[in-house]
Amino acid sequence: MNLSKLDEILKSAPVFRLAQAKKAVFFDLVEDWSKATTISKDLREKLRKEVPLEIKGKILVSKNGRTVKAALELEDGLKIETVLMKHTDKRNTVCVSSQVGCPLGCLFCVTGTMGFKRNLTSSEIVEQVLFFARYLKKDKEKITNVVFMGMGEPFLNWENVKKAIEILNDDNCFGIGARKISVSTAGITEGIERLAEDFPQINLAISLHAPDDKLRGELMPVNQKYPLEKILKSVDEYIEKTNRKVMFEYVMLKDVNDSEEQAKKLAKRLKYPLYMVNLIAYNPNGRFESSSPERIKKFKAVLEKAGIFATQRYRFGTDIEAACGQLAGK
Ligand code: SF4
Repeated sequence: MNLSKLDEILKSAPVFRLAQAKKAVFFDLVEDWSKATTISKDLREKLRKEVPLEIKGKILVSKNGRTVKAALELEDGLKIETVLMKHTDKRNTVCVSSQVGCPLGCLFCVTGTMGFKRNLTSSEIVEQVLFFARYLKKDKEKITNVVFMGMGEPFLNWENVKKAIEILNDDNCFGIGARKISVSTAGITEGIERLAEDFPQINLAISLHAPDDKLRGELMPVNQKYPLEKILKSVDEYIEKTNRKVMFEYVMLKDVNDSEEQAKKLAKRLKYPLYMVNLIAYNPNGRFESSSPERIKKFKAVLEKAGIFATQRYRFGTDIEAACGQLAGK
């Protein structure tokens, strides 16, 4: 689906036509223009040819039914993965990809090992949410949250991610509130600045994963250009402008970054009222092992003792390789 083409085709038509077409796509969730009966037959035919609504995708559902992974095929044949997480409190979160592959090559991440193929267009990003909105329609459920934590680094494709966020947030499209949308970055400081300017209400998450530059540099090559001090300075400026809390993601790798000493080091670095830490149980993919639940508990306790707000993320979809760092466009 090419949303800019939709705007282009309808630009000389009365304004309500575009609103009707968007309602058909985003509210009625039609999968075929022939079902958009508020639109004239001729126009439907034109749209059918020029803005097809089909999204090619295959899904895998986890055993407990709460995680659904979709492999979507793009127009050029490349594939991306996107994940729906159904929470027990009725929230439905889509974890979207922003690039095909990723150029940053973090060692613990399967996407990183694929290399980088290309940026996704804004329509390709929105399509991931649309795919799951259609999937949930049968149960009369809706998408409530979107996180940019799938394949790719969102700030390296900011113009398209920005356009996609505008569509997700637009009341004539999905109408998902800005505070229900989160962008996660490996620490691209220019992107953090842009987020504060463009969308001060949107949540920011930082993939940190190590308490010092030495280890972070070994795990995440991007740390050479964006070391911890630079990132934290940028985060502080972001907080000054937006007064929003910031989440630091920390994936727990056995005997790599999970010792008590490392927890103390991290606590020292992250002692700031608007910082939060989210500990993520790692999903082993060959190179690293995951920390034991006891180790994670101890690590969390050290942070909390130091006055840091810390949470532990529920591990979604490990059985279908839909969890953090496991998306690979297979
Ligand atoms: S963790 Fe994120 S930034 Fe790092 S390689 Fe994977 S997708 Fe890219």
